[in-house]
Amino acid sequence: FPVDKIRNFCIIAHIDHGKSTLADRLLEMTGAIAKTEKNKQVLDKLQVERERGITVKAQTASLFYSHDGQEYLLNLIDTPGHVDFSYEVSRSLSACQGVLLIIDANQGIQAQTVANFYLAFESQLTIIPVINKIDLKNADPERVESQIEKVFDIPREECLRISAKLGTNVEAVLQAVVERIPPPAGSISEPFKALVFDSNFDHYRGVVANIAVFGGRVKKGDKIVSAHLSKTYEVNELGLLRPEEHPTQKLFAGQVGYMIAGMKDVKEAQIGDTLYHQEQPVQALPGFKPAKAMVFAGRILEQELDNYPGGVQHAIERLTLNDSSVTVQRDSSLALGAGWRLGFLGLLHMEVFNQRLEQEYNASVIVTAPTVPYKVLLSSAKLIKSRRAVQKNVVYIDEQRVMMKYLFPLNEIVVDFYDLLKSMSSGYASFDYENAGYQAADLIKMDILLNGRPVEELTTIVHRDRAYSTGKAMCERLKESIPRQMFEIAIQAAIGSKVIARETIKAYRKNVLAKCYGGDITRKMKLLKKQAEGKKKMRRIGNVEVPKDAFISVLKRK
Ligand code: GDP
Ligand code: MG
Repeated sequence: FPVDKIRNFCIIAHIDHGKSTLADRLLEMTGAIAKTEKNKQVLDKLQVERERGITVKAQTASLFYSHDGQEYLLNLIDTPGHVDFSYEVSRSLSACQGVLLIIDANQGIQAQTVANFYLAFESQLTIIPVINKIDLKNADPERVESQIEKVFDIPREECLRISAKLGTNVEAVLQAVVERIPPPAGSISEPFKALVFDSNFDHYRGVVANIAVFGGRVKKGDKIVSAHLSKTYEVNELGLLRPEEHPTQKLFAGQVGYMIAGMKDVKEAQIGDTLYHQEQPVQALPGFKPAKAMVFAGRILEQELDNYPGGVQHAIERLTLNDSSVTVQRDSSLALGAGWRLGFLGLLHMEVFNQRLEQEYNASVIVTAPTVPYKVLLSSAKLIKSRRAVQKNVVYIDEQRVMMKYLFPLNEIVVDFYDLLKSMSSGYASFDYENAGYQAADLIKMDILLNGRPVEELTTIVHRDRAYSTGKAMCERLKESIPRQMFEIAIQAAIGSKVIARETIKAYRKNVLAKCYGGDITRKMKLLKKQAEGKKKMRRIGNVEVPKDAFISVLKRK
């Protein structure tokens, strides 16, 4: 395929505005999939995507399209809309020259419409605004066009009006892609150079990399080098994604496809890496900025039983190959055993990762409550009382919609802010965030004490205003899950030396043998053995035995 007949584009939008549905129609119209009633978000292949009805992974599909007697190769990338997966969007954009920015004709511009617009704008891509769902009773494309003019400074004449669901005017979308989006820049005569923009681990074939060829060509059997590790590989298989893998002999400049080159270790297939021919080294492409974790799962714990070969460690490594925005740190604690501290871009991201571990890797884990990163400076500036949210600016999008910017502490928005906002506004408000850096705040370190001894695993950082309620809740949960012992146990939450909450577990009077007084010896032995086994899972803090479950019940997400 000549480079000038190739178009690479992403579909971007706020969540639920119809990206995946439009992708279905484009696949059908170009014959990539058969036209049936059953096509519903066919690019959402993962079980977690189908169950939740959202896209979490960007998916590539190459389409053949004839227009004005010419054959075109269109590479479409469908992307997730939720803010937690924006890293997928920014990586996908690096393989494209243009985007379809989908906007719901009823809802108009929403938070992630704005965020995604800026991602594309900053990458200097051609932006085609597509107003979708014009079939809806309350559709108001006029108003949405005014919003687009006002907020994005795009003339209303450039907007397309479609119904992805019914297929109305979708042909115009394909025409606009061909006419407005420029072809990729590379040429076949240059040395081979490709960007790894995504990859996943296949249980049988090892690493499967998604690549965008920026220059030259590559064929089966070629010796290629990955710039990151300077290791040489032989290309075993390559091809197009239509959207299923479709092996070809070669890939050329401007094309997007997949490649298998005998990479067995997940560390070999870095997303953002550059591939080149062994004899023709090239300057590496800039790659991707590492994602910045916003939410940390306190800990991910290995369950006693896990069925994935190589254990949870392997499962996590392989899944993070497919989701490079997760940060991983090995972690272990006396009380909780081996685990990992994982960083995510948000709470939904954390839930989806957990679900994928279970569904795709059969690895069952316990995820503890999320925390956000803090920087602690031991100086008088901590004494500064700051408000928890500060308004930055307000933009009226039109008479009905206003965009407000606030500075928020991340831990205030991480857990349930999005849900609260949605329910308070009956679903009308939408929300997006970016990191504004660290701010001084009135945070304190709170310890949990058992009979006066601090339990290090349960030490938390909380805002002063929340300390009492958080401390009380933690003490209550511990009380429920620590068994009675031979003596009274005081459970306390304390800030420094000041106790702010307390629960007491009464002494246990009977011992395990009391019931079988004079009874037979084998039963006694059994009971003692059972008690000893139970103790193995206990952690002793001072003189108090604490079962692992007690830690988990305090740390686990509700
Ligand atoms: P995405 O999150 O942007 O990928 O959105 P989806 O493609 O998953 O669509 C979200 C919902 O909107 C689904 O229930 C679709 O059936 C529906 N939808 C998509 N396009 C249209 C349309 O043109 N008209 C109507 N009425 N509904 C649509
Ligand atoms: Mg989708």
